[in-house]
This record gives sequence, C-alpha cells and structure tokens, in this order.
Amino acid sequence: MSEVRVRFAPSPTGAPHVGNIRTALFDYLWARHTGGKFILRVEDTDQKREVENGLELIMASLRFLGLAWDEGPDIGGPYGPYRQSDRLPLYHQAVEELVAKGAAYYCYCTPERLEQMRKEQQARGEATRYDYRCRYMAADECAAHERAGDPKVVRLAVPREGTTTLHDFIHGDITIANKDVDDQVLLKSDGFPTYHLAVVVDDHLMKISHVMRGDEWISSFPKHVLLYEAFGWEIPQHGHVPNILAPDKKKLSKRHGATSVLQFRDEGYLAEALLNFLARLGWSLDDKSELFTRDQLIQTFTLDKIEHSPAVFDHAKLDWMNGYYIRQMSDDELAHRLLPFLTRAGLIADHGTARLLAPLVKERVKKLSEIVALADYLFADDLEYDSKLLIGQKMDALATLAGLRAAQAVLEKYSEYAEEEKIEVELRDAAEKLGLKNLQFFGALRVAVTGKTVSLPLMGSVQILGREKTLRRLARAIAMLEGK
Ligand code: GLU
Repeated sequence: MSEVRVRFAPSPTGAPHVGNIRTALFDYLWARHTGGKFILRVEDTDQKREVENGLELIMASLRFLGLAWDEGPDIGGPYGPYRQSDRLPLYHQAVEELVAKGAAYYCYCTPERLEQMRKEQQARGEATRYDYRCRYMAADECAAHERAGDPKVVRLAVPREGTTTLHDFIHGDITIANKDVDDQVLLKSDGFPTYHLAVVVDDHLMKISHVMRGDEWISSFPKHVLLYEAFGWEIPQHGHVPNILAPDKKKLSKRHGATSVLQFRDEGYLAEALLNFLARLGWSLDDKSELFTRDQLIQTFTLDKIEHSPAVFDHAKLDWMNGYYIRQMSDDELAHRLLPFLTRAGLIADHGTARLLAPLVKERVKKLSEIVALADYLFADDLEYDSKLLIGQKMDALATLAGLRAAQAVLEKYSEYAEEEKIEVELRDAAEKLGLKNLQFFGALRVAVTGKTVSLPLMGSVQILGREKTLRRLARAIAMLEGK
C-alpha cells in the first residue's frame, strides 16, 4: 500500500458534533496504525454557514482528545494551503481543464429560470434536476452571454448513458445509472467552488489515500466518482461511516443533551474515556473488548472492523467508562484534572487541597463536574442545616451534645489534622466511654462538620477543613443543641 494519507475536513460551522469527531478519530487511528499522515483541512467555501471562531473550536476539540494532525492550516505542510478559501485558483484551474475537455460547461441560467424549472418539474411529479439547457447551447449564444458579462456557473457534463460503480469499503459496491445523476454545479457564480468540486480537487492534490466521512455524504458520492472520472484521476478509497444515533434511534442532536466534544469536556468527561467511547461507536475489535487505551486503539484499529449499521450513543456506558478511567488515575493526576472544576465553581484554586480531595472522591464520581456538589460544604463559610439532623436514631439532644463535646475535646488537642488515623482512634475511644455506638457518635459529628448526613469521608473532610473551621462548625452545632 502506498502511504496512507487521511484527512479530516470539517466546515467551521460551530463546535464540532461528536459524530464528526468520531470520524476524525477513525482517520487519526488509521493514520497512526499505518504510519501514515493525518491531515486537517478546513472546508470553508460556504461562507454563509461559517462561524467566527469555527476553526478554533475544531482544533480545541481535536487537541482535547490528543488527535494531533501532521498537516493543517496552522502548521502547513507539503500540499497546502489547507483552507479551501485560500485555494480558489486551484479550483479555477481544475474547472478550466474540464471545460477545455468538454467534461464541464458554463451555465448562464438565472436563478429565476432555475426556480421556474424546478416548480414545473415538481408539478409533473419529477425529481428536480438541471434540464441541460446550457449544456447544448450554440457557440454564438454562449459568446453573447460572455459579451454581456452574464453571471455563470460551471456544471459537470455527466454522461447520460451507462452506469457507474462506486466502491465503498464499509458499504460495499453500489451501482448507479448515470442518467440519474444531476449535472451538478462545480463552480458558483461568485467564483467559489461547491463542496463537490473542492473535495475532489483537494483529495486528489493532497494525495489522500482514504476518505472517511459521515453517511450523510453517500448520496453525493456518485457525483464525486463521476468527477474523478472526468478528470481522469485515480479515486481514493472511500468509506461512509454510519451515523451516531441517540437511544431513541433518531440522529443524535441537542435534544438528547451534549453533542459536542467540548460540551462533554466541560461536563467533566475525560479525554481518555471519550476517546475510548467514540472509538467503540461504529468500530469493534471483537464481541467482548470494551476498554482500549490510545495505544491499544492505534495497534488494533483496522478499516474492516468499522460497522455497517449506525451506532447508538449510550450515555450510561460513557458514564461507566468515565468512572473507570477516573478510578485508574493517580491521585495527583486526578487532582490536576479536578482543579479547573473547583476553580470555575469558585471553591478553591490550590493543587494541595485538590490532592487531598482526590482519593476521597475517586470512587464516588462518574464525571469531574460532580466534584462541586460533593465537596461544596468543605468551602462554605456557614453551613445551613436543620439542628434536628444532628440528633440521630435512638439519640436525644443530651446524648448528642455529650458526644459532640467529647469530639470537640479530642479535636482541640491537635494543632492540625494530618494524622487522621490517630485522631479517629481517639474519637472512637471517646464514643465508647460515653456508651455511644460509632454510628451515633460519628453521625452527629458528620452533620456538625459537613451539614449533611451523607458526605465524603468524615476524617478526610476534617483534614481538609483544618482545625479552625472544624472547631468553629462544632462549636456552632453545640450551641444549636444548647438552644443558643
Ligand atoms: N466539510 C464536510 C463536512 O463538514 C466534509 C465531508 C468530507 O469529509 O468530505 O461534513
């Protein structure tokens, strides 16, 4: 096989959909598996749909997942430019070549005429398509339009007979009748290429070996193949990757929650988990393997294992995978990932505290963002809770008060709470002396210190809170019970 060169060719229309990024991931994995090149090309010829920071959003999504490209608009490469709007002369040259060969022609039909034509076709119940008017126009009529400077487009002169067979490495061969293919526009009157022209010219000039793109483009594939044939160029291998569906079997869209990788990132999904999860959407190694590191994916990814039918986006599975990767992480690394979530919520900004939190939450979170609701009580100035919560089952105010005072006496003795185990032993002894069960004693202490009956581990919380805050909370609970 000659060098594998694959490209991800998004249009900068907003934060890329996970479906697009999944295709980019397949591109990346195939390039890395084969030692080939992964190319980023921006398809920005439809300038109406473009958004200002579109390219940054694309790059941020790829960077988040670590899908580093080898050639692209920011880093250049041997076949640049990598932004279609910078390649207009190449498209003009290509259409001129086709027109000279008689494989394409100028069309001067006005938008009004085309509209009228479509309406009539619809009224007759026919598929709408160009009616060939300019394809067979006499030379002097053409010349008259040129002299008048009439706006024109360039159309492909699609053969009206015969069939064309499309090879798709995911869907197999598809044969179409040429007469069913429209004389598509290649170059618009504003001098911009259509997607069909630009994609074929660029894939050819950039020596792309494999084109992977979403299933929604399969209906355009005949146009592209006919265009390759008109140029006389070799056709790269094509595979149309099945869509990603929501559990309701509709196309995954905003109605189903997050749809962009950047949204998932902001909700606290790890790059490792998303990478693994997206790779498994439409690709499988066998019928049992679910967990893959990046290296394992690179090693095992082959095109023949891409699935033919649409994949279903299972949020529960993503959560499970994310929880798995969180648990695999070292405390230091987890702290590093948690910190931005804590900082953004205005809770803390120091790594030291995040490092203390990491082991406490590791088994408890599925998404990094959940840290905020789990840990907020640690950073609050005052806790809001009902004093009745302090008095546990089979307890009364007096016994609770005695328990909290005993805990206070233990905690006052220490200047800081790093030696949690030692302190815990002393607290247990204190409970025993009072004849209180651990559950009763520590239950009251937990509410006093955290304001909740369920919280992160108590001693870990006390350590993070530190002496002053812990004792202040305890004193307040005692005062509440004393009716002050
Ligand atoms: N610009 C197209 C898109 O964003 C690319 C399709 C292709 O990869 O050919 O969907």
